[in-house]
Amino acid sequence: MSSILVKGGHVVTQNAMREVVVADVLIENGRIVKVGSVKESADEVIDARGDIVMPGLVNAHTHVAMAVMKGIADDLPFGDFLEKVFAVDAKRQEKDIDAGARLGCLEMIRSGTTTFVDMYYSEDVIAKAVEDSGLRGVLCWAVLDQRFTTQKGVPLENCKRFHAAHKGRRRVIPGIGLQGVYVCSEETFLGAKEFAMENDLLLHFHLSETRKEVYDHKDKTGRRPAEWLSEIGFLGPQCLAAHAAWLTINEVRALARAKASIASCPVSNMKLATGGVAPLPEMLVEGVNVSLGTDGSTTNNSLDMFGEMKVLALLQKSNRWDPTVVRAQQALDFATCNGAKAISLGNVLGSIEAGKMADIVILDGASPNLRPKLPSNIVANIVYAGNPGDVKTTICDGLVLMRDRRFSTLDVERVLADAEEAGRELLGA
Ligand SMILES: [Zn+2]
Repeated sequence: MSSILVKGGHVVTQNAMREVVVADVLIENGRIVKVGSVKESADEVIDARGDIVMPGLVNAHTHVAMAVMKGIADDLPFGDFLEKVFAVDAKRQEKDIDAGARLGCLEMIRSGTTTFVDMYYSEDVIAKAVEDSGLRGVLCWAVLDQRFTTQKGVPLENCKRFHAAHKGRRRVIPGIGLQGVYVCSEETFLGAKEFAMENDLLLHFHLSETRKEVYDHKDKTGRRPAEWLSEIGFLGPQCLAAHAAWLTINEVRALARAKASIASCPVSNMKLATGGVAPLPEMLVEGVNVSLGTDGSTTNNSLDMFGEMKVLALLQKSNRWDPTVVRAQQALDFATCNGAKAISLGNVLGSIEAGKMADIVILDGASPNLRPKLPSNIVANIVYAGNPGDVKTTICDGLVLMRDRRFSTLDVERVLADAEEAGRELLGA
């Protein structure tokens, strides 16, 4: 039995009361067993006095293997962007995907993310990188109509094989990714849902990212994408829709009725200038579970969830001319407990409480940007003033992945060198 004691930090618990307390956190065998005053010692003691201890962040939508594709298609109109990304993606080999996944995992450990939801093909390659890194990945194999894919074989069958080979693991949780209504037929959506229902899997999909997607679908079916997904009987509590930017109030209500979750990706939407802003105020009123994602590195270009929380709050405020929409506490909820709920792990992840899995991040209390540090401003400091450089220590499932900014699972030099090589090959530089 291994134990870790995180001593004396300002603990942002994210419990039901949203308490911030000065406390010790005792971890045994990957679980938090006590938050409070701990008298006993542990195998490993981390002095967090003066530091901020918070739950690991949940990135609810990304394509981690694209971490080596940064900068390949910046500042382009959307059509040119897609053409460029698809062309580079089509020539990727397993070793590039592995290099990208490892680089992305390194960046997430460095920036305080402990759980992420991924959508891509070759998730078997990504799974190996995730397990080596010690992070937790909900890996959703991309499913789409066969005529649109570059995957060998039938995408849903590939997804099923991935699931069979990876179910029951601790750090890799297989899910189903559906690329979007523009490449997935009704049959594909419902086939994926049937498999998800039989095996209790997450259904993760892109939804209404661009206006063109919405109007093309309306031309084709007479329905907007979320209306259509509701009518064909696809929506349900296992659904996590990424973007959800171009929605009507009726579509928001359909998502709420289905108890579906969304992952807002504000940086990606703004960088691609797709114009849509997810209607979060309406979603919150109607009861849609809102989480937060960075999207992949071709559209962000980082996996920084601190930046994402700030941009999300600012975009919503600016868009509504109302600084009261999306408060700091809500932004932090989206990136922690709501993200956990979106992947049906809300009862075991997303907060620092006895009984939960030990996904814990320690921020440097000496960072000038996080001072002054008062019980009343710690959450606002994390959201509006925090950045990845503040992260000192990252623990996932009771395993220390980085301590005092030194990585303990991945070979940093190796990961960086492989990423450089993959980048050079893919970018042709
Ligand atoms: Zn995406």
